[in-house]
Amino acid sequence: MSANEEVKCFICGASDNERVYLPCIHSGENKLVCVRCLPMLIHGVH
Ligand SMILES: [Zn+2]
Repeated sequence: MSANEEVKCFICGASDNERVYLPCIHSGENKLVCVRCLPMLIHGVH
């Protein structure tokens, strides 16, 4: 385990272990997004 690799959604900030997270790249950085925020990203809700 890496101390730098915190499991946290970069949109909603959720970090609970029961949620599913997916890796993505945002602003050139590797981030994690939870599946609850994923539809928002896909549909581009403002
Ligand atoms: Zn989220």
